[in-house]
Amino acid sequence: MKKNNKDFNRNPNGSNQWILRSNEEIQKIIDKYPKYWTKKDFRGEGKNNKNRILTRKETERMGLIFGNIGGIKQYNSGKLKCSMCGEFKGLDDFPDDRYGSSNGKRSNCSTCDVLRNKKYRESLKENK
Ligand SMILES: [Zn+2]
Repeated sequence: MKKNNKDFNRNPNGSNQWILRSNEEIQKIIDKYPKYWTKKDFRGEGKNNKNRILTRKETERMGLIFGNIGGIKQYNSGKLKCSMCGEFKGLDDFPDDRYGSSNGKRSNCSTCDVLRNKKYRESLKENK
């Protein structure tokens, strides 16, 4: 199988061809590109980029931050912006994640993490 590394998504279930990317994944993609890129650029319709990186639905998701500086998370007076709910919260409100970028924290707050874990457990139940 030939894979296009740029657009390749790991699909552990091997079921759907089109995998829904999480906000976190999309945010990581956004963060890799220059901060002056617009949503249009990410869809390949803008001046800076003609390749489609994200779909329209993905660029219009709630909680995504465009105009980011690569790899640097959104801080505002010592508070970090949650990638899921978009609220600014203290670092203590973010769960530790040793795989998380620079600060070793997840990009979503604890409240969102609980919801996320709950959804994950429910999805496991459904697959039984
Ligand atoms: Zn949150």
